[in-house]
Amino acid sequence: MADLVLKDVAKSYGQVTVLEHIDLEIEKGELVVFVGPSGCGKSTLLRMIAGLEHITSGTLDIDGVRVNDVPPSERGIAMVFQSYALYPHLTVRENMSFALKIAKMSAAEIDTRVEKAAKTLQLHNLLDRLPKELSGGQRQRVAIGRAIVRDPKVYLFDEPLSNLDAALRVATRIEIAQLKESMPDSTMVYVTHDQVEAMTLASRIVVLAGGGIAQIGTPLELYERPENEFVAQFIGSPAMNLLPGQITGTGAVTTIALTGGGSATSHVPTLPEDMGRQVNIGIRPEDLITTDGAAIFTGIVNITEALGEVTLLYFESQGAADPVIGKLQGIHRDLKGQSVSLTADPSKVHIFADTQSLLYRDAPIRRIAKKAH
Ligand code: ADP
Ligand code: MG
Repeated sequence: MADLVLKDVAKSYGQVTVLEHIDLEIEKGELVVFVGPSGCGKSTLLRMIAGLEHITSGTLDIDGVRVNDVPPSERGIAMVFQSYALYPHLTVRENMSFALKIAKMSAAEIDTRVEKAAKTLQLHNLLDRLPKELSGGQRQRVAIGRAIVRDPKVYLFDEPLSNLDAALRVATRIEIAQLKESMPDSTMVYVTHDQVEAMTLASRIVVLAGGGIAQIGTPLELYERPENEFVAQFIGSPAMNLLPGQITGTGAVTTIALTGGGSATSHVPTLPEDMGRQVNIGIRPEDLITTDGAAIFTGIVNITEALGEVTLLYFESQGAADPVIGKLQGIHRDLKGQSVSLTADPSKVHIFADTQSLLYRDAPIRRIAKKAH
């Protein structure tokens, strides 16, 4: 039985619909990440699960029980916020004990739970400190500890790392991954706008955009088989290149004549009626390789960014909305100003028509503004 089931959930504020048609099942023990651009409704969805926002329509079940009208305190959930929301005048121990005292738990049981959580989170030396005597990362660990002691059915995290600096964010991200591993049966829903956090933490990712779900899948499914241009460009960095063209050969192998010259071959199968169809082909920067032979794309390198392990090549845009970007292994500063021809393995060439992947003709058509981020 799924731990969390959302059926056709929608949220409106007055006349404005923020989310609609949200269908989602989260199994016990999963760590599901909601990711999407700012303002797409991630927090709203999480707060509806928590019971902090009313669900306008649709149903939400937790552990088999309809909870639309169940108050937050009775849903068996614990939420961790970006702002930590610690009581400033209470010590770490008191902060972690607070909800348990309210619930009238015995002092001995409270002690046991706080000690155990403090050990898991390496807070045992900090139990007598006040929040102001802690670093940002430590404060966030206390906020997580406060959730753990309640032993909830479901943990909800709303951008818990976004107040931390970059190095601490990576360290705390790894701690959260380890915490999840140490609690294999707990269900977690984690909101972030950071696709790296989503890719590294999630068992499954829900990409939200344009008021709905753009795609649900494991991190690798989203990376390798995006269902639409939005997901194609949202997951992966730099974003997938999209090049316009026209289908000139169909079947198990598809050929596309590109508007900017060049042609591409793709292993995405197409139907006879696709002949002549206007499409965008999608190729990730890391899947482009230099060639002396037939090229998908030839252009002058405008900018090189040598990152050490790889070099990013930005090509003159030739009238396209975004520059084509290549990612080559090693240092290639010498390519600046040069004409470079690129190709890609046909298995790495995606085809999108009307923003939907031709691999997913049966997927629901999702009207998502391209590049909403
Ligand atoms: P995210 O967490 O993805 O950045 P939010 O869930 O906070 O997005 O917000 C989604 C949309 O709902 C935004 O357009 C926001 O302005 C709107 N919104 C959120 N809360 C309210 C509210 N209380 N009243 C009206 N609009 C709201
Ligand atoms: Mg938010």
